[in-house]
Amino acid sequence: MSYLKSLLIGSASLIACTLLSSSATWATPKVRAVASFSILGDMVSRVGGDLVEVTTIVGANADTHVYEPKPADAVALSHTQIFFVNGLGFEGWMDRLVQSTVFKGTTVTASTGVKTRRMEEDGQEITDPHAWQNLGNGLLYVKNIADGLCRVEPEACPTFRKNAAAYSTEISALDTEVKERISAVPEAKRKVITTHDAFGYFGAAYGVTFLAPEGISTESEASAADVAKLIAQIKREGVTALFVENMSDPRLIEQIGKETGVKIGGEIYADALSEKGQRGATYIEMFKHNISLLAPAMSGS
Ligand SMILES: [Zn+2]
Repeated sequence: MSYLKSLLIGSASLIACTLLSSSATWATPKVRAVASFSILGDMVSRVGGDLVEVTTIVGANADTHVYEPKPADAVALSHTQIFFVNGLGFEGWMDRLVQSTVFKGTTVTASTGVKTRRMEEDGQEITDPHAWQNLGNGLLYVKNIADGLCRVEPEACPTFRKNAAAYSTEISALDTEVKERISAVPEAKRKVITTHDAFGYFGAAYGVTFLAPEGISTESEASAADVAKLIAQIKREGVTALFVENMSDPRLIEQIGKETGVKIGGEIYADALSEKGQRGATYIEMFKHNISLLAPAMSGS
């Protein structure tokens, strides 16, 4: 073979290889994932990166407790490989949705391994589902998400693990920051009123007492007697932090504000992220926003 000929063959095979590898990269289909609500959807996006396409069922500023699944949700689920849910009874509509579709993929319960909070409500013992409100639990969610993605796409597992590690470092740093901000608030002042009992895990992790006229779910109605009791407690204990939630009806808190003379400190993110461009568009941002409002309001400044 002449030198020129072998050079030409070499170049041609190099070009062929380049084309093949670039088309292979281009053609690799993304993992199709569905997340039940916006906070979890963001976490899956962070761990999955460019390799995962995430569809979220309950979107920004929307209430998962009272959500009614739509036909489009069943369609999305029938095309998905992996379905991420919070669990702990948060998605009361999930079984109905799964039964109405031909979903054959993997279901991952993101809260697996969390030390759950049990509490009594209207004479019944129930599990508090809002585990993401403790950043320590957020780390468990990230691990469970990475494990789930590795199961459905083992080849991409090193990337998922790398993304999860970087994300976990961010979450841990924020956890330290939240602890520092709260430790600067005198212990007796660490009391906050919100619409429903969404911050039990936050309270337990960071040493804050959260009180709410509504229970664990926004489905429960606050009784007049409960509201009167809460108003008396706010006045008696001099609570200064009163907040509405981004996905709950603000009217009850507004009424409590009027009756106690406590100014509403703003809107915090409870069970959903904000729209993009607002201050709580990611799990990290929602936590930063919440602590930036909660800490000064508790101190009464
Ligand atoms: Zn809730």
